Amino acid sequence: VSLETDMSADSTRVVELVAEPLEIELVEPFGIAGGAQALAKNLLVTIVLEDGTRGLGEAAPFPAVSGETQASCLRAVEASRPAVIGERASRWRHVAGALREPCADQASARCAIECALLDALCRRAGLSLWQFFGGAECELVTDLTIPTGDVEHARASARRAAARGFDTLKLKIGGGELGRDAERVRAIASEAPACRIVLDANASLVADQALELLRALSDLRERIALFEQPTAAGDLAGLQRIGEHVRVAADESARSAADVVRLARERAVSVVNVKIMKTGVAEALDMVAVARAGGLGLMIGGMVESELAMTFSACLAAGAGGFSFVDLDTPFFMRDSAFAGRWSAGPHLKLDGIGRGHGLELPRSALS
Ligand SMILES: [Mg+2]
Repeated sequence: VSLETDMSADSTRVVELVAEPLEIELVEPFGIAGGAQALAKNLLVTIVLEDGTRGLGEAAPFPAVSGETQASCLRAVEASRPAVIGERASRWRHVAGALREPCADQASARCAIECALLDALCRRAGLSLWQFFGGAECELVTDLTIPTGDVEHARASARRAAARGFDTLKLKIGGGELGRDAERVRAIASEAPACRIVLDANASLVADQALELLRALSDLRERIALFEQPTAAGDLAGLQRIGEHVRVAADESARSAADVVRLARERAVSVVNVKIMKTGVAEALDMVAVARAGGLGLMIGGMVESELAMTFSACLAAGAGGFSFVDLDTPFFMRDSAFAGRWSAGPHLKLDGIGRGHGLELPRSALS
């Protein structure tokens, strides 16, 4: 009996790679310190295998975060064709490596292709992505983001979120007056007294500003579960100083497994925000492994992604297990329910019932 795989019987060869604009209206602009997105200008990437199996992936370029745009992403997918067509989805890590060059600086394009390959591979194998990643936990509970805005906006958002059952609120701060941000934190703390609070400055502060904000909120210190990326990506000393007062997470500072090694070695943060959209899937898995080995906590997050990419991330986080912060909330911001199915029921995301792949088919009418 031969136990060797007969590669000629592997019908996961990719015969088609298509990228289409996926434009999604939001219920409110998703504002962060560096800018806002009023419309998610994403891409839907479809891969077809030689046996007809289809896999779907999504790219969500966020210009204010990484400089990637829908147009640059589309060009990167086109440039990736030679690295994908004719290759096998079963060798997705090999393909992911080959995408480094055509998708240089376009991580969301690489992410979409990797996701589509894995979706196709799992569909063909009769496995959900949640099973593929390990099936560690059956459910995740996501936070809800309150984008930048005025105090009244924060207050009204927190009131609605508490009524919908959220137990963690993530407030986008920075880019404006710090005194007003302090008032926004106070507003959400009083409107949602049972919620833990996560602050995210998207790298917009210097350490002294962040510490001043924390001093102004010293009576609410118990409520602030995490301060995500207060300072610039390269300012690890600043992150470390802030970490003496509150739990700090790296997002912009953690764009590769090598970054995570450095963050762990220098004890700069205690949590790492893993996002497939900033690294692709293979690198994200390496980041998870390195963070665990280095004693760092895990957060799963994303850009302004629809249910498609967020279900993928949810499968990864619940499948791998051990993520103590879940920030998979942008489908709540999508006006068209076609992009937010699993997210219509509130913060609890059940993953164990998915059939094959991520289990999603976007309606053709959803494509612009
Ligand atoms: Mg962040």
